Parts: sequence; structure tokens; C-alpha cells
Amino acid sequence: MGLLDAAITKHNVLVTSVDNVLNWARLSSLWPMGFGLACCAIEMMATNASNYDLERFGIFPRSSPRQSDLMIVAGTVTMKMAERVVRLYEQMPEPRYVLSMGSCSNCGGPYWEHGYHVLKGVDRIIPVDVYVPGCPPRPESLIGGLMKVQELIRMEQIGISRADALKKLAEKSADPKTVIQRERKAVSV
Ligand code: SF4
Repeated sequence: MGLLDAAITKHNVLVTSVDNVLNWARLSSLWPMGFGLACCAIEMMATNASNYDLERFGIFPRSSPRQSDLMIVAGTVTMKMAERVVRLYEQMPEPRYVLSMGSCSNCGGPYWEHGYHVLKGVDRIIPVDVYVPGCPPRPESLIGGLMKVQELIRMEQIGISRADALKKLAEKSADPKTVIQRERKAVSV
């Protein structure tokens, strides 16, 4: 069902649901936080350049987590950086979404086996909505991931899906410090 369920043009009246209007407004103004962690961030910056014109989708980066509703985790999440990532996530207002960009962020990437300093997936500390594979993913892949986030938002029902997301957050990142300590212990010799 699209935004417009019925139109009565004579009196400029549109008939639709509150869910549709809110979802449409949210998905048409996704503001990702402007931060990057490693080489994947270069591709993210390229995606924001004029060639790809993300602003046609209402997507442009903000420089404060308090004004952002999308976190693109672009790059290697080191143990040192992991706590900062959680802090930035917690500073973002609801509704907020997370896109994990690239192998490092998805599962540790090339550091998966021997990287003593790398978290093996950012979803161990914050809930991830969409994963984009690649090392690094090209801008087209990132745009595909952003479209997926928009699809998720389009399907949301006010009061239901965010509760699920919060539950997921509580399950996955109730105590990120413990997770980071456990990861550190697991890779120490
Ligand atoms: S996935 Fe590849 S390109 Fe992206 S941060 Fe890791 S090593 Fe760099």
C-alpha cells in the first residue's frame, strides 16, 4: 500500500493512515551520522559525493549524533573504538537505525581469525538493521543497503516495531563493556 490510499481531488483531501505518513516522512529524510572508522569510510564519502546524489533520497550526513537517525558503521571496529561506537549510538534519538558496512564491521573482516584488537562484528554491541557485504562495498552496494533501511521503515507500525528493536537492543547490548572485555579475553594469548 502506498502513501496515497485514496484521493478526493475536488477538495484536496488525501486519505491514508498515520503509519504511512510517518514512515514516508522518516524514510524520505534519513540523516546518517558523519563518521567513519577505516577504509570503508572512503567509499561512504564517495557515496555522499555529487556523482551519486544521495540528497535526492533525502539522505545527507549530519555532524552530531543527536541530529542523526542512521548510524553507518563503515570500517574496522577496534576494541578501543567499540565503546565510543556504543556511546555515539546511545546519543542518537529514537527511532534510530544501524547499517553495518563492509566485512570488518559485519564480522571482523580480514582480522576475523588473528585480529587481537578487532571486534568480530559490531552487532555484538549494538543492534544492526542492515548488513552490506564487501571489502569495501562499492557506493552502489551502500545505496542498496540504504534502500533496504528505507524498506524496513516503510513496513513499520508505530508502537510495535520500535518496541521490538528496543528489545533487541536490550538483549544484545545491555552491557557492551562486558562484551568488549569478553572479546579481549578471547583473543589474548
Ligand atoms: S571491510 Fe575491507 S575496506 Fe572495509 S574497513 Fe575492512 S579492510 Fe577496510
